[in-house]
Amino acid sequence: MTGRSIVLTGPSGVGKGTLLKALLARRPELYLSVSATTRSPREGEIDGVHYYFYSRDRFEAEIAAGALLEWAEFAGNYYGTPIAPVQAQLDLGRSVILEIELAGARQVAQIFPTALRIFILPPDLQTLEMRIRDRGTDSPEAILRRLEQAKVEIAARDEFDHQIVNDDFQTALEELDSLVTSA
Ligand code: 5GP
Repeated sequence: MTGRSIVLTGPSGVGKGTLLKALLARRPELYLSVSATTRSPREGEIDGVHYYFYSRDRFEAEIAAGALLEWAEFAGNYYGTPIAPVQAQLDLGRSVILEIELAGARQVAQIFPTALRIFILPPDLQTLEMRIRDRGTDSPEAILRRLEQAKVEIAARDEFDHQIVNDDFQTALEELDSLVTSA
């Protein structure tokens, strides 16, 4: 039996990472894919745990080698999913979660048509902007780029099988848990 692929998408700052951390603490049987990126590590981020931090040359070599399941440019950096660990976990029957942006989610829909695709929404744009600014890790230009991108992503929400509004964290977590475990 092969595992299910689950795609989690939503604008930067919506709280996907925090939701996933809480979900995985409850459901250790799920496998969270570790992406590759060319952006610089944020404070506390560990290579191979939060991301694989690649140079642009290395990333482009991985694309050329066909080693990425999907990839996209987001706010000036490359992001992509290394294919080998995902395939290995699916073959073991384990469900795999990909936390990726919109262009990548569209690619995965082509590759895995049965993927469960979930979109996380902020309660409103002002809240999202506040969350991105409060994170304090992005430059003013990066914040603007992320906000512009957020509007594009939110406009595509209906492409997804399910939408969850991350207003009350606990409620959003329960919704996510029940979608993922009934998959
Ligand atoms: P951040 O820089 O905030 O960690 O991530 C920026 C965006 O890139 C987020 O929307 C995140 O979901 C997305 N992202 C992270 N990893 C991947 C990936 O492997 N592929 C794609 N397409 N997007 C990713």
